[in-house]
Amino acid sequence: MQLTALPAGAFTDVPAHLVVTDPDVLEGYRTDRALGAGGMPVAVVRAETTAHVQAVLRAAGRHGLPVVTRGAGTGLSGGSSAVDGCVVLTTERMKDVRIDVGARLAVAQPGALNAAVKQAAAAEGLWYPPDPSSYEISSIGGNVATNAGGLCCVKYGVTADYVRGLEVVLADGTAVRVGGRTVKDVAGLSLTQLFVGSEGVLGVITEVTLRLIAPPAPAHTVVAVFPTVAAAVDAVLGITRTLRPSLLELMDRASIRAVDDMTAMGLDRDAGAMLLAQSDQPGAGGELEAGVITAACEAAGATEVFGTSDAEEGALFLAARRAALPAVERLGAVLLEDVGVPLPHLPALFAGIEQIAEHTGCLIPVVAHAGDGNVHPFFVHDAADPASVAAAETAFGQVIELALGLGGTLTGEHGIGRIKAPWLAAQLGPDVMALSRRIKHALDPEGILNPGAVLG
Ligand SMILES: Cc1cc2nc3c(=O)[nH]c(=O)nc-3n(C[C@H](O)[C@H](O)[C@H](O)COP(=O)(O)OP(=O)(O)OC[C@H]3O[C@@H](n4cnc5c(N)ncnc54)[C@H](O)[C@@H]3O)c2cc1C
Repeated sequence: MQLTALPAGAFTDVPAHLVVTDPDVLEGYRTDRALGAGGMPVAVVRAETTAHVQAVLRAAGRHGLPVVTRGAGTGLSGGSSAVDGCVVLTTERMKDVRIDVGARLAVAQPGALNAAVKQAAAAEGLWYPPDPSSYEISSIGGNVATNAGGLCCVKYGVTADYVRGLEVVLADGTAVRVGGRTVKDVAGLSLTQLFVGSEGVLGVITEVTLRLIAPPAPAHTVVAVFPTVAAAVDAVLGITRTLRPSLLELMDRASIRAVDDMTAMGLDRDAGAMLLAQSDQPGAGGELEAGVITAACEAAGATEVFGTSDAEEGALFLAARRAALPAVERLGAVLLEDVGVPLPHLPALFAGIEQIAEHTGCLIPVVAHAGDGNVHPFFVHDAADPASVAAAETAFGQVIELALGLGGTLTGEHGIGRIKAPWLAAQLGPDVMALSRRIKHALDPEGILNPGAVLG
């Protein structure tokens, strides 16, 4: 039965000042950045400790209350959007970060921002690589729960590659520690990785232990403009055949123009596509790789190639790429896609997206973590016009089908959340869906954790 108010005395074990039921405040916790209509929670609990999280889950279990765990709410798939009658359990006050220099580890509470982990590591001469474009605004717990990717994945991997251990509170309130602090550890099942990317449906992550590495050398940046997206994709294939850049990002004409409109950076507005590549090889290796990247761009038909080893100049171009989503959001409401394909199928994916844009009449600017085959088409629409919304939704579904048909995935990094749950079975098939449901049932038999997300 769905509740419209918190049962009296439900959270007696949680300090009262952490439990919020003011409707004006609840309103701000209804949706993540996927927007859409989130449900109405009956309460928000601002947990400060693992014990608070345990108390919330025990009480939720007793009262049959759904629990939606929320980090910073920057998710793009509706995973932290509320459902009617739920408790939103926010980790926004769990922000501690400690660095163990000797073991090269960061131990963080889940609500710490990715940027705070990076800063704490940098203060000790260490580096935490994963860098979603949202690194300044997303939480490390949310990053782990979505297995966030980012711009440096092409060389350094995704969040999962840095998670050594976790503390997780299970649906029944038990707090377990999985993984640990050692470089190598094969004791028992790989439960740590089971929780990475589990989007709040298997447990609440209350502490993360992260591997840190030595910082990279200053990067050499290459920026190339192409007459067409197809030529830029050719360059991506040429570059990745020979080396492993530390960054390889693509923006198409519509996204270049949107960013230039917002930032007045003086980007080439007539380019069909722009490629940003970096090499962080130390010493002469960086120059050498930048040269190989430049040659590959020229061979693919770049009309202009610009290189710099000036860190500030390089950072400016990256800022342009990171600004893509807010810039496109100025054009209208945005439904954001996150498909991935094996690299050789990138040309077919881009060509297919262009056709889908033509057929549906939907404006679809595209940016891509091109070196990973991870592509973000933005379906721009007028949220007040049903025909425009329908065109965006049709295009969204068609791009997913296109990617799956090319042997790809419906999400490379944003997760399934709620908005992609209807398509998950098409990728996983009935047996893996059934296995996933058995795992969910074993950990959360009453189904209180993030109902409707991921498995539908
Ligand atoms: C401008 C912009 C750029 C972005 N760029 C990228 C990018 O480059 N790469 C990328 O991967 N993503 C990107 N994202 C998406 C988003 O920032 C990531 O998915 C991020 O990891 C979400 O973190 P969050 O703290 O906001 O999580 P939330 O949105 O709060 O939650 C995301 C999911 O994780 C679950 N969750 C959160 N915390 C916990 C926890 N402690 N325990 C269990 N479950 C939990 C939630 O229930 C939900 O299912 C971008 C978003 C924006 C707005």
